[in-house]
Amino acid sequence: MSVAPVHASVLSFENARRAVEEHAANVHPSVVETVSLLDADRRVLAEPIFADRDIPPFPRSTRDGYAVRSVDLSKVPAALDVIGEIKAGVEEFNIPGALQAGEAVSIMTGAPVPAGADAVVMIEYTDRHGDRVEITKKVVPGENLVPRAAEAKKGSVLIDRGVRLNEPGIALAASVGKSQLEVYRRPRLAVLTTGDEIVAIDATPGPTQIRNSNSYSLAAQIRRAGGEAVLLPIAPDESRALKKLIQEGLAADLLIMTGGVSMGRYDLVEQVLSEMAAGFFFTGAKIQPGRPVVFGRCRADAQSSEASGTYFFGLPGNPVSTMVTFELFVRPMLEALAGQSAQPLRFLHSRLKREIRIKPGLTRFLPANLTGDFEKSEIELVAWQGSGDIAAVARANCYAVIPPDREIMPAGDWIAVLMP
Ligand code: AMP
Ligand code: MG
Repeated sequence: MSVAPVHASVLSFENARRAVEEHAANVHPSVVETVSLLDADRRVLAEPIFADRDIPPFPRSTRDGYAVRSVDLSKVPAALDVIGEIKAGVEEFNIPGALQAGEAVSIMTGAPVPAGADAVVMIEYTDRHGDRVEITKKVVPGENLVPRAAEAKKGSVLIDRGVRLNEPGIALAASVGKSQLEVYRRPRLAVLTTGDEIVAIDATPGPTQIRNSNSYSLAAQIRRAGGEAVLLPIAPDESRALKKLIQEGLAADLLIMTGGVSMGRYDLVEQVLSEMAAGFFFTGAKIQPGRPVVFGRCRADAQSSEASGTYFFGLPGNPVSTMVTFELFVRPMLEALAGQSAQPLRFLHSRLKREIRIKPGLTRFLPANLTGDFEKSEIELVAWQGSGDIAAVARANCYAVIPPDREIMPAGDWIAVLMP
C-alpha cells in the first residue's frame, strides 16, 4: 500500500492554538449524568442554576447594630427610641409596624431590616441606655444593608451550563437548594504511548530502556482537566501493531499519543495515521519544548473521507514536551468534550530575576520558579537538560513564556507565566 505523504504544516504557537480552539468550538458532549452536590466539584454543569427566590429574600443587615431612618441622624449625636429587636431567622418581628421618626430597632447581622428603616448603624457607634440609644455617627441611605434581590432576582440564571464548578458555584447551588446537579459525563481519553524502548513501570528496564512515565503524567493532567484516562498498551515502533492500537484508541472521545512524532526513522505515528486517511491540521508548532506536536482527526474504519472521526493529538515523547503540549493544545479540546465553555489560555505576569538570552524563532515555555510574596514576585528559570529532564520540571512550579522575537530579556522585565 502506498503511503500518502503527510502534508507538513508547522504553525506559530498562536495559530496552532487557534486551530485547536476552532475545532473545539464545534465539539459538544452528549451524555448527561446526575451527581450529588458533594460530588460536583470540578464537574461541568449541564443545566443552568436559577435563583429560586430573590437573593437576598429581604433587605439584609450586614452588621450588628441599629436599624434607623438615616434622616433621623442628620445631626449627631442623636438619641432614638429603641422599639424592639430583630434577630436573624426570626419570622415575627416584635415591632409594631414600620419604623417611625425618632425610632430605632436593635438588629443582628443577617437579620431583615424592618420597613421604614433605610440604614443600619454599627453597634460600635452607639451607646444604649434602657429604651434609648445614643448614636454618634451619621449613615447614608442604604448603609450596612443589602437590598432585597440586589444579588439576584428570582428566576435569574446564577450559573450557566458549561461552567466548571468550584466552591463558590457549589455554595450558590447549595443556597438555592440544588442537592443534585446535572453535569456532563467526563470525556474518555485514550492514551497511547509508543516506542520500542518504553517499558511498563513495574518492569525492570534493560540498560537502554525507559519506563513509561508519560502515560501517568498524562493521566494526571487529563483527570485534573476533567477527563478520564484510558491507558492502552505500549505500542512498539512497528506499523501494524501501532495501527491496531490507534484504531482501538479512536473509539475513545479523544486519542492522545506520545512519542513517534519526530523526524526519526522509527517515528511512525504520522505515517500510520496517514495510511488510515487521517486529516492533519498541523504537524508541528514553533514552540520549545514540543515542536513536533501533531493535531488531526481520523476514523477508525479508515479509507473514507478526511478530517472526520475522532480528534487525535500526537505529542512528542520527551516528558516535558508531553506535559507542555497537553496544557497548550489538548486541554482546550478536552474541556470542549467535557462541555465546558471555551477558556482562553491565561497567563500571570511576573518580573524576571535574571537576564535570559535565547535564540529567537520559537515561543518557549521553560520550567521556572515563581517566588516571592504578594507584593514582589519574581521568576527564575530552572536549570535543565532539555525536554527529557523530568527532575527539572518537578523542581519548577510554572513555565516562563518567552516570545519568539526576543533574544535578550533583561532582569526586571515583565514576563508571561503559564501556571499548569
Ligand atoms: P520520541 O518522541 O518517540 O522521539 O521520543 C522522544 C524521547 O522521549 C525519547 O528519549 C523517548 O525515550 C522518550 N519517551 C517517549 N515516550 C516516553 C514515555 N512514555 N515515557 C517516558 N519517556 C518517553
Ligand atoms: Mg519514539
